[in-house]
This record gives sequence, C-alpha cells and structure tokens, in this order.
Amino acid sequence: MAGDERQEDKAKDQQADAEGRTQPPREPTDSMTPFEAATYFFHNSAERLRLEDHWREVLASSYRELGVQVPLRMDDGSMTVCRGYRVQHNGARGPYKGGIRYHPSADLDEVRALAALMTWKNALIDVPFGGAKGGVQCDPRRLSKTELERLTRRFTAMISYVIGVNRDIPAPDMGTNAQTMAWMMDAYGQKHGYTPGIVTGKPVELGGSPGREEATGRGVIMCTQEIAKKLDIPFEGASVVIQGFGNVGYWAAALAAEAGAKVCAVSDVVGGIYNANGLDVDAVFKHSQSEGGVQSYPEGDAVSNEDLLGIECDILIPAAIQGVIHTGNAGDVKTRLLVEAANGPTTPAADEILCERGVPVVPDILANAGGVTVSYFEWVQNTQRFSWDVAQVNDELAKKMTAATEQVFERSRRDDTMLRDAAFDIAVERVAHAAELRGYV
Ligand code: NAD
Repeated sequence: MAGDERQEDKAKDQQADAEGRTQPPREPTDSMTPFEAATYFFHNSAERLRLEDHWREVLASSYRELGVQVPLRMDDGSMTVCRGYRVQHNGARGPYKGGIRYHPSADLDEVRALAALMTWKNALIDVPFGGAKGGVQCDPRRLSKTELERLTRRFTAMISYVIGVNRDIPAPDMGTNAQTMAWMMDAYGQKHGYTPGIVTGKPVELGGSPGREEATGRGVIMCTQEIAKKLDIPFEGASVVIQGFGNVGYWAAALAAEAGAKVCAVSDVVGGIYNANGLDVDAVFKHSQSEGGVQSYPEGDAVSNEDLLGIECDILIPAAIQGVIHTGNAGDVKTRLLVEAANGPTTPAADEILCERGVPVVPDILANAGGVTVSYFEWVQNTQRFSWDVAQVNDELAKKMTAATEQVFERSRRDDTMLRDAAFDIAVERVAHAAELRGYV
C-alpha cells in the first residue's frame, strides 16, 4: 500500500473514532476498547444477517452523545471537576433506557459501549425501549453522602435537556443505587413537577417497583437455570463461583443458594473467599457489611480475583466489571457454563478461545436483562399510577427471561452458532426492522 493511501486510511480511522463509529471487525484482541469490543459483536452479526451498509452505519454509532462538565464542591470547601456523559445509542423501539455509572473508568468510550449493549439487550428481552447509558468519571467510594448528592443533582440538571419520561429514562448501575435515583427524581421534579417515571430503580416508597433491587440477580439465576437444564447440568448441588458481590453478585449468590446450588466462591474489588463445601451467603454478606469486604470471612480460604476465575466449578458468573476474562486467562477457566452477569466481562478474543474450548457462554445482553425488564415494569406502574405486588413482578420477569432464553437457545441450535451470536442476531434484526418501519433512513 502506498504511503498516501496509508495516510488516508489512518485519517478515515481517526475521523470514525471521533464520531464514535468503529470500523468493520478486525482481528479480536484484548486491547480493543469497550466500544470496539461491543461493536465487534454487532459487526459480526451484521455480517451474518447481511445487513445493508446504511443500516450498519446507523446501528454502529450513537444517535446522540452529551458530555458535560460537573463541578463538585467538596465538603472541605475545595472544588473538583468531573466529566459526565449521557449517550443515546438507538431509539427505534422506544424511549432510550439505561443506567448511570459512577466509576473512574466511565469515560465516553465505555459509556458508548454500554449504551449500545442496552439497545441490543432491550430488543432481545423485548421491552419497548431504545438503548442509552450515562456515567460520571469519579470514585464514589471516596465521596461522602452529601458530595454524592450534590454531584447527582448537578449532573441531573445538566442532562435534563435530553432525558424525559417518553424520551430517556435513567436507572442505577455500578456505583449508583436507589438513593441516587431518588435524588435524580427530586432534582428533575424541581423543574418539571412530580415525575416518578423519569428514573427507575427508585426506592419503593417513591414509586419504585417491588422486586427491582434483586431483579438483575434474579434474572441471572432464572436464565442460568434454563440454560443449565438444556445442557444437562443439574442446578441443584451445582458448584457456583461469582466474581463481584455488589447488587448483582450478591443477589445472584443468594438466589442460587436458595435454589439449591452450592455457592463456593464470591469476591469484591479487594479479593475473594473460597470454600469448596459452599459458603453461607447471608453470613458472608453480613461479614462484608461489618468488615468492609468478603476476603476476611473466616470460613473459607482467601483467593485473588484472578485465581477465582480459574476455580473448577459447574457455573462461573462474572458479576463485576468488563474485560476480566481475556486471552491471558480464558484458557484457565474451568467451568461447564459461563454466565455474563456483568456487562462485557469477556473480551472478544477471549470469547473465541472459550468457543474453541467448547465452554458455553450466556451473553450479558441476555443474562443480565432482568434489571431492565423490571425497570420497564416500574416505568409502566409509574405511568399508570398503579402498583403491582412482588409476586406479579417476579412472574412477569420469569415469563420474559424464559421466553428470551428459549429464543436464544433455539436460534443458536438452528443456525449452529454460539449463544452470543444468536442473541445478537435476534436483537439486531429487531432493531433494524423497527428502524426500517419508522423510516430512519
Ligand atoms: P455494584 O457497584 O453494586 O457492585 C460491583 C461489585 O464488583 C462490588 O462487589 C465491587 O467490589 C466489585 N468490583 C469492582 N471492581 C472490581 C474488580 N476490578 N474486580 C473484582 N470485583 C470488582 O454494581 P452492580 O450493580 O452489581 O453491577 C455489576 C455489573 O453488573 C456491572 O457490570 C453492571 O454494568 C452490570 N449490571 C448491573 C445491573 C443492575 O441492575 N445493577 C443491570 C445489568 C447489568
């Protein structure tokens, strides 16, 4: 290739990067950014579906990206300036929907990736939402409650131009919780009047849905049980290893144990605890609340997060952050079933290794869709000014999770593809079809 052409290609790449587009798939690597990794799976699906170029162009990039400066007055009077983002990826199937993450790594690329995954997840689980995500680059563990409240109110005011009950509805994600949503709802309501449907994942006392807090973990276990049944892995007595012991990880552990599985290891950001005979999940939870972590729990052996992923088990559930299973450790994973409770825990390159090794992977867009499903129920209850009881919420959640899991499994069998490919194909087809019906291009 001549030097001029190379320069031209490089310029095109830079222009595409600046606009949040990715190039068609290159060889998968661990060094792909979160957005490159998320869109790698999309491009592969577009290839299988023979999607026309104009649809690929529309669906590979975000519709709208808002970046804001969030000045934060600290309790000691000093000032910190954080970056905040709200990215709306695609709204063909309904209002944008997706969580707000408070984490040091929540930059534009990461938020873009998560927004795109929300588009595919919402389509796959079949709720009438498009995909969005928000983030503020900060370390919430270093902020006091009053600092978090000021940050949340300021960020909400700044993104208030692009959110709305029928436009874009935030929810909690890593580093945020029901309290954060209560502040967001209040901040938005000060300008627009009482608007409970502006966020989901609120406290039940403020119009939140019963069952929302545990919904993601519950959905993870519902989906795991369905797939395990199909793969002839008895769930009762199955050894389960979970990375992350926050909202999703804790509930997945508690509900797996309740359903008769043996939760052998759990971890948080500091490290994990392992007991081959099974852990008492509630006791570990109480210990982590009082001691600030799980690793010092006395009835087990301390294990690092890296070693935890290599523990031999029936079911491995990464429920913390992205990119933890990579080419350096995918060969060491010793599980019969890997269930992605976190968003993007497996790099595309590691995914290929697991595929070659015959390890079934339940993709994030299916496994962790329970949270947004109950968020949808919460939004429905808010707009109808009517509340459901927890049994109804869990029944409706089970219907959605079972139907989507069944569809993904059948599609993967029909097309002889991995579960992730089947999930993306169903989702991309639905979004492209809705976009076409609406006349997007
Ligand atoms: P959380 O903040 O409640 O918990 C995160 C957990 O991961 C904590 O135990 C934390 O200590 C641990 N952790 C953080 N960094 C880690 C690291 N480097 N190594 C190991 N552990 C680490 O967050 P959450 O709401 O439970 O979300 C977890 C994952 O699930 C995220 O990927 C999130 O995007 C995804 N998710 C969450 C929801 C939801 O409803 N909360 C819905 C869908 C997907």
